[in-house]
Amino acid sequence: MQTEAIKRVPIEATGRLRALMREYFLGLDAAARDPDRRVAWCTSVGPCEILVALGFDVYFPENHGAMLGAKRLSHELIPRAVGAGYCPESCSYMNSDIGSALTGRSPLREAYGIDGPPTPNLLVYNTNQCRETQDWFSFFGRRHESPVMGICPPGYLGAVEPAQVAYVRGQLVRLIGQIESRFGLKMDPARLEEAVSLSSRASTLWREVLETARTRPAPITFWDGLIHMAPVILMRGSQAPIDYYRALLAEMEDRVRSGVGAVRDEQWRIYWEGMPVWPKVRELSEKFFDLRAVVAASTYCNSWAFRPYEGGDPLEWMAATSTEIFINRDEAFKQAFLVEMFERFSIDGVIFHNARTCPNNTNCRFGMAQRLRDKQGMPVLVIDGDLSDVRFFSTAQTMTNVEAFIEQLEGRR
Ligand code: SF4
Repeated sequence: MQTEAIKRVPIEATGRLRALMREYFLGLDAAARDPDRRVAWCTSVGPCEILVALGFDVYFPENHGAMLGAKRLSHELIPRAVGAGYCPESCSYMNSDIGSALTGRSPLREAYGIDGPPTPNLLVYNTNQCRETQDWFSFFGRRHESPVMGICPPGYLGAVEPAQVAYVRGQLVRLIGQIESRFGLKMDPARLEEAVSLSSRASTLWREVLETARTRPAPITFWDGLIHMAPVILMRGSQAPIDYYRALLAEMEDRVRSGVGAVRDEQWRIYWEGMPVWPKVRELSEKFFDLRAVVAASTYCNSWAFRPYEGGDPLEWMAATSTEIFINRDEAFKQAFLVEMFERFSIDGVIFHNARTCPNNTNCRFGMAQRLRDKQGMPVLVIDGDLSDVRFFSTAQTMTNVEAFIEQLEGRR
């Protein structure tokens, strides 16, 4: 078997991404040490634009949770969180992040030479993805004696009604007031609009990057997306992700023009539904590569492809995007969204990841896989695993199941 280095066409923008990430984390570390700067922690689809506009440096703990999983540290750290009273089947991002804090072990030390995540002056959650974010941030609020604030949009929505958006907008206004009064700040509306506008442009470019995978052969896969999505999560509200995604998009468009595929001799187009399996991303991507199967689209990478901001009330845009994200919708909306994605990306089969510790972002627990099979005729594979905790994932069994699934697709053709 050839090595991955020989098989793959590397994405040139990756070098630039590494430099950007380094700058981001060193900037956060410097902010946490500077008494004149403030650090806010924010959930991945939380109201970061408000924090940026109020002058905070913003850090996203879920990224650290993913790093702990990708570096295969989670299963060693989770027991420490369990010892502190957290259930072993609660979110493994949360548990490994708590375990990391309790042990002082962080991959940020090796990667960037910093001790770990920046100490927060403020923690701001949004329960649009799950209630775990609130409990996760509360742990660190107690630990650092820092205020924890947040918003709780209505969940499991079909259509999103204007009244629901208005309700969430009201929560955002209240949140701004709480932060202003706690830190003696005053929101500059022009600065908020600028942050929202920058955020939206980054998100739109990210969507355009993902959309290049509609082409055959797809120039980028889900596995690449897991790496390259970092700026749209961590740096929203700034110019940096815009510049980065312009370069990445140009590279992907160049690949499309030249017919360069991310997977050699692409034969099968797969949709990944649910969380990644961070500790096994490399093995899984190699397996799919060897099977000539491109994972052309995913719900996960699409989670930060928001509707564009086209002027008007920035808080309304924030309220709408917070409320209408996929994870916050009902089963019927999700199924319709998936069917549209399958058509859009010419999908041959879908893989559902049943992530043990994230029921919130697992969508095969209420019959959806069966319905897609029966009503859409879509071949479906459900794999059991977890986002970070390898104890819930069998590599051998999963690889066998993936191989059998691709054989099934071959049989259908
Ligand atoms: S959505 Fe899932 S992985 Fe993300 S914080 Fe919530 S429980 Fe954890």
